[in-house]
Amino acid sequence: MYDVIIIGAGPAGLTSAIYTSRALLGTLVIEKGAPGGQILSSPTIENYPGLIGVDGFTLMNNFKQQAEEFGAVINTAEICGLSEEDGIKTLKTKDGTEIKTKSVIIATGARPQKLNVKGEDKFTGRGISYCATCDGAFFRDKEVAVIGGGNSAFEEALFLTRFVKKIYLIHRRQGFRAAKILVERARKNDKIEFLLDTIVEEFYGEDKFKGLKLNNLKENRILNLEVSGAFLYVGYIPNSDSFKGVVDLNEKGYIITDENLETSVAGIYAAGDIRDKRLRQVSTAVGDGATAAFSAEKYLD
Ligand code: NAP
Repeated sequence: MYDVIIIGAGPAGLTSAIYTSRALLGTLVIEKGAPGGQILSSPTIENYPGLIGVDGFTLMNNFKQQAEEFGAVINTAEICGLSEEDGIKTLKTKDGTEIKTKSVIIATGARPQKLNVKGEDKFTGRGISYCATCDGAFFRDKEVAVIGGGNSAFEEALFLTRFVKKIYLIHRRQGFRAAKILVERARKNDKIEFLLDTIVEEFYGEDKFKGLKLNNLKENRILNLEVSGAFLYVGYIPNSDSFKGVVDLNEKGYIITDENLETSVAGIYAAGDIRDKRLRQVSTAVGDGATAAFSAEKYLD
């Protein structure tokens, strides 16, 4: 029986692990992929205080090392169920194992949202990507499209300018969610051309990806844009499927917590991008991780 099981080893989960293991609570972290989470692939993190120009891989390796040095155990498994009876929580893994714990911190984060248009599945990994850091170098001196108007689209478009000849930044309206500083940088970059009020209707090509069929909503004009690749950043979906019906979720599937990060079930907490909140950053995930760990410790007391 563990004191705390933390599901997810991103910035929030690993921070919780540092705090709970340092508080001498028996801590198990369960992660289905590589510890580190989405930020692992970030080439530079500009807004994490105190570590100027750090890359995601280095930062997250340090988080992991720090948690392990305090005694946290990090295991690989995929959680598919959570139940609670008389205060004892039971987690089920995909291979059928059941693990019991007194408290749980859910820090499972989110995954990229698909556009769900024709050709997207066919060309994913063969022209369509959701990760410029992973795939940008394959498009050296080529023309590519970036779809989205949030921080991710702008950060990744700016990153891609290192490799590619030209970027068409396609967004469905005129206004952007991205921070003004990123929008300004993109506007000043000669390699980036904006195609606004424009949506993607199809990713086309026969065996090989050839381009995008676009619809300019203002002019009601369909155009074909030939590019070698397309990078999609149209938001994220919370990884909360395994917790539906156990803890309360909002209409988008994010977990609802109180200010101590407790969910609707006593002893179950949520931290990081999985949580219903406004700002999703490494710095806010770290704050969440610490708060959830402290709340779990008080609950166990
Ligand atoms: P986001 O902020 O939710 O932006 C998603 C973008 O995709 C929006 O511009 C949205 O358009 C567009 N979009 C959504 N569905 C679409 C569809 N079906 N067709 C066309 N466009 C669509 O997502 P994000 O940029 O991935 O960021 C996620 C979170 O991570 C945010 O909280 C963000 O601040 C944070 N983040 C922060 C940083 C940083 O601070 N350095 C970096 C990356 C991400 P509308 O605006 O019209 O809805």
